[in-house]
Amino acid sequence: MNVRKKIIAGNWKMNKTVSEAKAFVHVLLKELEEYSAADVVICPPFTALQAICDLLSQSSSHVRLGAQNLFPASHGPYTGEISPWMLREFFCHYVIVGHSERRIHLGETDLFINKKVKAALSASLHPILCIGENLEERQQGLWKEKISQQLQIGLKEVEEKQLADCVIAYEPIWAIGTGKNATPEQAQEVHLFIREEISRLFSLQSAQKLRIQYGGSVSPENAQELLLCPDIDGLLIGGASLDVRTFCSIILNS
Ligand code: PEP
Repeated sequence: MNVRKKIIAGNWKMNKTVSEAKAFVHVLLKELEEYSAADVVICPPFTALQAICDLLSQSSSHVRLGAQNLFPASHGPYTGEISPWMLREFFCHYVIVGHSERRIHLGETDLFINKKVKAALSASLHPILCIGENLEERQQGLWKEKISQQLQIGLKEVEEKQLADCVIAYEPIWAIGTGKNATPEQAQEVHLFIREEISRLFSLQSAQKLRIQYGGSVSPENAQELLLCPDIDGLLIGGASLDVRTFCSIILNS
């Protein structure tokens, strides 16, 4: 039996001012007052963490806060960066690492992402490790190699007992922000492959416990179908998480 609790996260990317973020969260908390079927996470820009942390701490909601990035050091001469411990001050539970936009625009490598995964875990944050192939790799049938490498390096030196605190997000780059989601069949095939790789790298038991989200042009129209797949344990939502009614409709109908 699948006992993995679904996890639905919104990645706002570089969107929303503090006042926009507060307005969103007011509605979200009302809409999800009674809701606890899946873990719900919002990942705003750093600038809105304090305001949202304040709102969440005044409510009894189960909504959790996540950050979009961290730097793998506790403090020091890293101008412009944010440490895992700074995120903990805002009661962040999750942090996205290895998002393809950071890999592409900021040149983040699997090795650097691995440092972030370990830094997050050492501060008791749950890393959401994003992996996924680009269009060329998919068309050339190379997605297995790519995903296998991202998992192997991204989770290097992560202890088996720490794996339970990790979430993997499968985000095919060709589906991000394009309006062209992976079909449930395509996504399920990759999620199953990820679980098999985790089983090979760790153990079958750990693989069965690990939550694997799908991300890439998720919308109210395709969310349910994706979530029905046996190895899809949640969603990482970009564009469709920016409108609170749309985000809530995905959550409440899932
Ligand atoms: C993302 O960037 O994590 C993402 C999944 O974006 P979108 O839903 O807009 O494709």
